[in-house]
Formats: sequence, structure tokens, C-alpha cells
Amino acid sequence: MTTRDPLTVIGFDLGNTNLSAAVVTATGKVVSRWREDNPRSEGAQASLRVVEQMLRRTAEEFPQVAAVGLGFGGPVDVATGEIRRSHHTEGWEGLRLGEWVGERLGLPAYVDNDANAGGLGEACFGAGRGAPSLLYVNVGTGIGGAVIIGGRIHHGAHSNAGEIGHVVLTPEHGPVCTCGKRGCVEAWASGDALGTAAWEALAADPKRESALRELSAGQVTGRAVSETAAKGDVLALEVLDQTGWYLGVAIAAACNVLDPELVVIGGGVSEDNPAYLQAVDRALRTYGTPPVAENTRLAAAELGYEAGVVGAAAVALQALGGVE
Ligand SMILES: [Zn+2]
Repeated sequence: MTTRDPLTVIGFDLGNTNLSAAVVTATGKVVSRWREDNPRSEGAQASLRVVEQMLRRTAEEFPQVAAVGLGFGGPVDVATGEIRRSHHTEGWEGLRLGEWVGERLGLPAYVDNDANAGGLGEACFGAGRGAPSLLYVNVGTGIGGAVIIGGRIHHGAHSNAGEIGHVVLTPEHGPVCTCGKRGCVEAWASGDALGTAAWEALAADPKRESALRELSAGQVTGRAVSETAAKGDVLALEVLDQTGWYLGVAIAAACNVLDPELVVIGGGVSEDNPAYLQAVDRALRTYGTPPVAENTRLAAAELGYEAGVVGAAAVALQALGGVE
């Protein structure tokens, strides 16, 4: 006798650079995966045309799918599935993305912020399996986060819980954030911030040796800093230590309030980046209250490049009551 997954859904990740669709089972297994460039410079309508095409083709090829889960890279009103804002492209504001997809596919569609989806994905199928509560932090170009309590996303009163990237650490000084405020965690510790911090460190001491000097300003990205640090470059390691420390200070504060079992760090900057994660861990042990400092585990995310689609699928699976 063959066993069948009771539920299969489409997980769709509307990322800044890529649009990704996957067919995912109730055990988190990716059956099929598909990615296209996001034509975001042409506006939201151009992106939506590609989204529709990808969803229709996936639903035709896999008629057994029961629902669609969507992760969007910006604030979402989860009660209505409405996009509040996109930080990168005009034209998304006010779109009821869940309804928009539901009408076109004839399937129930559930929308959440991509960091919330990523956190739920890790809680259901990744590093957070079995943990009753976790704080998820995604460090990429920006910094997003999610609070998972009792295996469910805690959205808060205004669909705003988990926004650790915009916790202000230094209101009177420090870099200006994408949100317009000064001294946010995202402005100190994101992938973009890493590149900026490295460039400033090079400019501050022109005699200081570093392999990063071979690069032009635009090439000193978070990825370049991490790769250079992995080869033992002292300046790059110092930058990772400083930026990771800032993130750790904010994580310690969040843990003092929430007291989660586990903190999971995901996103491009955290992958294969021990220096950054060690700095986060050190700040967590320094600024966590004693029960937090001694007991709260810090783990790297496990879903890697599939985090976006698996997380979006988890949103749909959970809405249908089907996560195993
Ligand atoms: Zn901010």
C-alpha cells in the first residue's frame, strides 16, 4: 500500500531579486521548484504577471495542490492578506495579494511577511523542529525576524511582531536605516551594513592592509566581507565581529522580553559565517539576563536556499491544519 501526503501546497516566495515557486508536501518535502527573475524595475504589475504565470503553470502541472502560501518581502496585514508597503518597488501598496491569487487560481491563498514565513518554516521543518518557542532572525540585504510561540507565528496587534531589524540601538548616532531612522539594527548589522562598515574601515586607515582593498566600493558587499574573512583577513574579521555584536545586543534584548527556547539565524549573511555568528553569540551571553545567557540556544537555520518557498508553504499548510 502506498502512503500519500494528505496535503500538498504551493509555496511562493516574492523576493526582491527572485520569484520562486515550489510544490511542497505536509512533511516539508519540496517536490518541484521553479525560479524566475523578478522584473521589479518595471513595477509591481510586471512582477505580478510573472507571479500569475508561474502559479497557473504550477497548479496545472500539480492539480493535487490544496492551497497557496505566499511570503512577501515587506509588511503585510495578515488578517486581510493586504500588502502594506514594499521597500523596493512601487505599486504593491494596498494590493490584497491573497484575494488576487485566490481569484486567479480558485484555491485558498494565505499571505505573510517573508521573515514570518521563514521563521515558521524553520519551526516546522528546520532548526526549530520540536522547540516550543523561537526567535527567528534573517540577515540578508536587510534584517527581518519572526516570533514563533507554540508552533505558530505571533503577529502581534498590528501584524508587526518580530521586526527586530528596526529596533533602534543608537538613536543619536550611527548609520541611517532604510526606514529613515538612525541606528537601527538593520543599519548596523545587515549584509549592506557589513559592506558599508568595511568600506569605512578601509577609508579610516589608508595604510591598513586588507584583501578588500583590491575591490572597488561597489564590490565591497556583505558577501565579499564574509568570503574575505573566511580566508583570515583581519580587517574583514573585525568588521564581522563588530556588526554581529550589534545584532547580538538586539537579540539579547528580545530574548530578555520573550525568553524563547531557541534563536535561529538565517539568511545569506549567516551562511558559512562562523565569525559573525560567534559575535552574535557572545553578545547574547553578555547582555542576556542570567537564565537567557546560560540557556538560550543559538542555531543556524537549516532550510538554506529553500527557506523562502518552504516557509511560504508552511503558512498555507498551517492555515489548513496540515503541518505534520
Ligand atoms: Zn530601521
